[in-house]
Amino acid sequence: MDLNIISLDQWFPLLKAPLIISGPCSAESEDQVMNTARDLAKVPQVKVFRAGIWKPRTRPDGFQGVGKQGLAWLQRVKAETGLLITTEVASPLHIEQALEAGIDILWIGARTVVNPFSMQEIADSLKGVDIPVMVKNPIHPDIKLWIGALERLNNAGITRLIAVHRGFHYFERQPYRNSPMWEIPIELKRIYPNLPLICDPSHISGKRSGIAAISQKALDLEMDGLMIESHYAPDTALTDARQQLLPADLEKILQNLIVRSPGDIQFQSRLEQLRTEVDKIDWELLDILGKRMKIVEEIGDYKKENDITVLQIKRWRDIIVDRMDVGIKLGLDRDFLLKVLELIHQESIRRQMDILNWPRKEES
Ligand code: PEP
Ligand code: MN
Repeated sequence: MDLNIISLDQWFPLLKAPLIISGPCSAESEDQVMNTARDLAKVPQVKVFRAGIWKPRTRPDGFQGVGKQGLAWLQRVKAETGLLITTEVASPLHIEQALEAGIDILWIGARTVVNPFSMQEIADSLKGVDIPVMVKNPIHPDIKLWIGALERLNNAGITRLIAVHRGFHYFERQPYRNSPMWEIPIELKRIYPNLPLICDPSHISGKRSGIAAISQKALDLEMDGLMIESHYAPDTALTDARQQLLPADLEKILQNLIVRSPGDIQFQSRLEQLRTEVDKIDWELLDILGKRMKIVEEIGDYKKENDITVLQIKRWRDIIVDRMDVGIKLGLDRDFLLKVLELIHQESIRRQMDILNWPRKEES
């Protein structure tokens, strides 16, 4: 299905540069909201102030957001700074209250986008309402869920849509809080070239230090803007403290970003897509190696219980013949394959020997 979209420059005519949205993860108090907003109003690139008032928290004992009272604080931000205001909504009640309070842009969070029932309820309650809506990618890397959410809103008549790339839950061991999997937003852009797409480097990085590089990458991939969390005293933040920036530090990052001409973007995108695939495969390789070694250790325990030798030459020969055969068919070089298999085997033997020797080491 094609989306009926109004392009960003049509409904944001004064926007000449990437759309920058910033503000705290959560609205915590009127002072915190106003202090952050006043500092952000001094950063010329920032056009929209964000703050979550209904927070989707994993555990019920965490800070759940200040709720409805935060809407008045956002109204004050708008009145005093002129910034547009946006907040996360997850239910028809949130939408009703946000619309009543004159929120300029709504956003749907990653935990809501995964749920088609919630998305349909939200879309139904937005029928006949003319408001821009930002749709974060769902937590897990399923582009169809993301597209489905956009379609439901578009079917309800929302034409000012923005997709927000905030990364995906993936294997635990990785440098990011949420894996960027750049190929997914790139694919979304390929399918819907007119759909505005912005990046949320804060939730991808999970820490301040990664935000500049992720932001630059997003711009290099021709994304239309950035949503970056900021707080006037980030270390005291009640949610996502490690990833929130001081507004002054945000300004430095924004000043250093290079907005390239679209000339080499196709090349960049392809390269990025290929690199992301390699990254993903490496994580999978490491994960699989880790799992293999755990099973090898279980075999070691079992051999120990049953008094069987660690190295069984026949089994090893069978493995080599079998794996070499498969690997060569997959186009791997014979010498390379042999080296890799031997290394894995040596490490497996070492682990099983450790298991067998362990009581002796303990005794000595
Ligand atoms: C947020 O923006 O603070 C938030 C909760 O984001 P996400 O839905 O992407 O986790
Ligand atoms: Mn957050």
